[in-house]
Amino acid sequence: MLNRRAFLKTSAAAIPATAAFSALDPVKTLAEEEAASKIAPSAAGMVALPDRLAPVTASVPWQQKIRRVAQSNMTEHDPAVMNVEEWAEYWHSTGSEIIFVSVTGILAFYPSKVKFHRHGKFLNNRDFFGECVAAAKKRNMRVVARMSPDLNWGDALEAHPEWAMRNKDGSAQFSTEEPRLFKTCMFSTYMDDYMTAIIREINSLYDVDCFYTNGWPPIGSLPDCHCAICNKLPPTGTTAYWRVFNDRIFELWQKYDALAKEKKPDSFFFANLGGSVHAGPNLDRLGKIAAWYQADNQGRTYEDAAVWGCSQQGRVCTAIMDGKFAANVTAAYSTGSPGWRNASKNPAEATMWLNETLASGMVPYYHFVGSENGLGEDRRWQKTGSDFLRWTEKYDPHLTTRRSVANIGVVMGQSTQLLYPGPGLKPARRYMHETTQGLYDALLRGRFAFDYVHEDRLDAARLRKYRALLLPNIAMLSDRQCEQIRDYVKAGGSIMASFETSLYDENMNKRADFGLADVFGVSKAGEVIGTNGNPYYARIEKPDAAQKHPLLEGFVDTNWIPGAQNRLPLKPVENPLMTVVPGFVRYPPELAYPPASHTAEPAVVLRESGASRIAWFPGDLERTSWITGHGDILRLLHNTLGWLTHDERVVRVDGDGLVEMFCWETDPGYAVHLLNYTNPDAQHGWLQSSFRIGPQIVSMKLPANVRVKSVQLLKAGTNVQFGIQNQLLHFTIPHVDDYEVAAISIA
Ligand SMILES: [Zn+2]
Repeated sequence: MLNRRAFLKTSAAAIPATAAFSALDPVKTLAEEEAASKIAPSAAGMVALPDRLAPVTASVPWQQKIRRVAQSNMTEHDPAVMNVEEWAEYWHSTGSEIIFVSVTGILAFYPSKVKFHRHGKFLNNRDFFGECVAAAKKRNMRVVARMSPDLNWGDALEAHPEWAMRNKDGSAQFSTEEPRLFKTCMFSTYMDDYMTAIIREINSLYDVDCFYTNGWPPIGSLPDCHCAICNKLPPTGTTAYWRVFNDRIFELWQKYDALAKEKKPDSFFFANLGGSVHAGPNLDRLGKIAAWYQADNQGRTYEDAAVWGCSQQGRVCTAIMDGKFAANVTAAYSTGSPGWRNASKNPAEATMWLNETLASGMVPYYHFVGSENGLGEDRRWQKTGSDFLRWTEKYDPHLTTRRSVANIGVVMGQSTQLLYPGPGLKPARRYMHETTQGLYDALLRGRFAFDYVHEDRLDAARLRKYRALLLPNIAMLSDRQCEQIRDYVKAGGSIMASFETSLYDENMNKRADFGLADVFGVSKAGEVIGTNGNPYYARIEKPDAAQKHPLLEGFVDTNWIPGAQNRLPLKPVENPLMTVVPGFVRYPPELAYPPASHTAEPAVVLRESGASRIAWFPGDLERTSWITGHGDILRLLHNTLGWLTHDERVVRVDGDGLVEMFCWETDPGYAVHLLNYTNPDAQHGWLQSSFRIGPQIVSMKLPANVRVKSVQLLKAGTNVQFGIQNQLLHFTIPHVDDYEVAAISIA
């Protein structure tokens, strides 16, 4: 491999910097051109991408070829106001290949004979569903039969009191917005008898391509029901309940799927998912049976205020679907709380959500509710969707992913996300949310290429591609999972973990010491210590030593750096790089000094064995980074990631701005996606507009024998010049507005 200096020399000879950038983009400003010529591509640390996958020769299921998904979510009023032809024409014009049509279960959109399947009051015995299916099929669009099993009406409740979810006092649970509708219990026969009757009826009357349930299973939480059946189950929120909950989901999923296939073998059932890293159903189990991952992650809400909420969901899908179909629903309407179901959201925000869908490897799916006065009183959403979807249509091969080439794996501890209570802090889910976002933010700011890895998929074959595996307070890990991580380290992998990682087993039983204590060389020395006033500090041992450790790079003129809000104290280790200065009073300032300025308690524990590097932080560092934004903690995380990976990168993107980066192997070659989050609205509310960032220099080392034909910027619609030296490809993206995709075509 060339070192950086040698590379600069040879590349300068091969392609004079100015020449390389001069013929790029006619709209590029002089300032950008100048800036571009000053940023040099970097060869340092670049490792070759893996050998390319063999082309797929077997035929793939039909849904794998779908690239655009459409839905006008139908209201009871729509049969009176929706023009079916106009509806079909709009969606067909967007290039959508499949469309959701409502069967429902709450209200029938066809003359259903299933008992308690109430006809909408504007239906008048008309076959509205059938007309919609015919209009879609006439345009060669496939049809998803959309059902909603979560709510039903008083007459059903009277006849079947056992169908309802119950409160502790035995009263039925009702929709908070519409108290005429009761909530159905997923353990009741409502799901076995009523829903299956609807699927059978649809199969007997129509030619639909697959079946889908909205509103079930719960997206990101577990139900709390006290009906006669649920009272016999383990208490909700426990690991035992989670298993029963999962068993029931899989039982129903497979039952509905078998019914779908009774009509057509290539039909299938799928359900509402989403929920990102804190999804309700066990995603490992689900990923094995799902033919379609429906990410119901429609837009930013108060809790998920980060702009990257959709691409984070995409990383979850990549982790569990192994290349099978995944689509993310972008709401064209106004998501959030309060949210407006019938008003378009900011076009910049809706477009970014669609950008993220594609960048993270999912299929865009656009959605509005209701068709008052045509396709809605507010029709502004239509152009946003058409523009985006039609643009994608030009580049389907480049936008279809084969696999991620990332070299860092982040363990998504789904059971920790759902069941771990946090260190006495409520609500617990918020705690893990902050932890997850803190690491995500650090990875983005460092422009690292990373994947999520599900806790139940830590097998050696899957982990082999990762130079480092990160465990951000993955509190719950089974003995087997600990063993898999141990094997990964033995094979030369690097790991980072924090706080209570592996302190609990898969049943939330607390261990006497960390399950990974031996791997990390750490041992617990007490219980969690929080913050009262000043959090703890990390003292840099030997700050003046000539040979500073890479973890300390950039920490000059200071002996202390901030610790985290909470820590689990560790027993002393030999030669700690940093030690804990315990927290103390912040006010009054008279007392703001440490009672003990020096301790033997480690603030980080590092190990090195062959190629494997290991870092343990006793504090909830990722979370503290998120809630404070302290640059020292971010720097420490970045330094640690650099050290763990030996500064190895599979793709490097140098330039200004807060950017999320994805790099995919594709059929035509590779695709590097850049999402520009450099925006005052990145962490709050919605994007109002985008703010252009300047040149981004992309470097990646291609496998031997791969030859590059062209590099095309799919948003700008231009080709860019590229240099290649010893398989190190580099090129410049002159600027990025909201999104750019560099599509690399190979010979
Ligand atoms: Zn129940």
